Amino acid sequence: MRKRQGVAPTTTAPTIADGDRTGTPGGRQELLVPRIAAHLAEVLRLLDLDMRDPNLASTPERVARLYLEMFRGLREGAEPDVTTFPNDEGYSSMVMERDIPFYSMCAHHFVPFFGHAHMAYIPGPRIVGLSKLPRILEFYAKRPQLQERLTEQVADYLWKNLSPLGAMVVVEARHLCVEMRGVKKPGALTVTSALRGCFEEREVRAEFLAYLNRSRSW
Ligand code: ZN
Repeated sequence: MRKRQGVAPTTTAPTIADGDRTGTPGGRQELLVPRIAAHLAEVLRLLDLDMRDPNLASTPERVARLYLEMFRGLREGAEPDVTTFPNDEGYSSMVMERDIPFYSMCAHHFVPFFGHAHMAYIPGPRIVGLSKLPRILEFYAKRPQLQERLTEQVADYLWKNLSPLGAMVVVEARHLCVEMRGVKKPGALTVTSALRGCFEEREVRAEFLAYLNRSRSW
């Protein structure tokens, strides 16, 4: 299944979404590097930069590789393989993974936004390995993204794949497009949240916030 969210392909040429399953050594991603680099070099020339500067000579290729790395969540096959287990013990309290760091790229300005996410769910019939929660976040972060959409996509993933009684995701992030330009508010945090199921209830949300505000005791 191809994931096209966050990209608007304008040609039928290979794109990052085609993944690496080609007969080419290094895969199709490697074929994309010179194509992306050629366009980036043109942008730098249009900005009147001297491409003979040794510091710029390989910049288009470096940035092309950086983009392929940062947007790898768009690749076919990049979906997190999340094994779930039957909830045999009938655990029915909140499971929370907090302070998960992430880095993403603002779809509007193509500069990073980054911060932490807090993910919680109350199990239904299935539970998930805790190490998988950061991978779900990572998958949706590695693409041109909006913080609001990232938050909703992670919550939807939990909701659809675990069938929990409820799920909640809070994302706190700094946006370089806010900090470096325009209003210039260094350190300002943008907070978004998405909730599903029983987290609509005030007491359940209060428990989530109590966990979130608890200081580390170790
Ligand atoms: Zn932005």
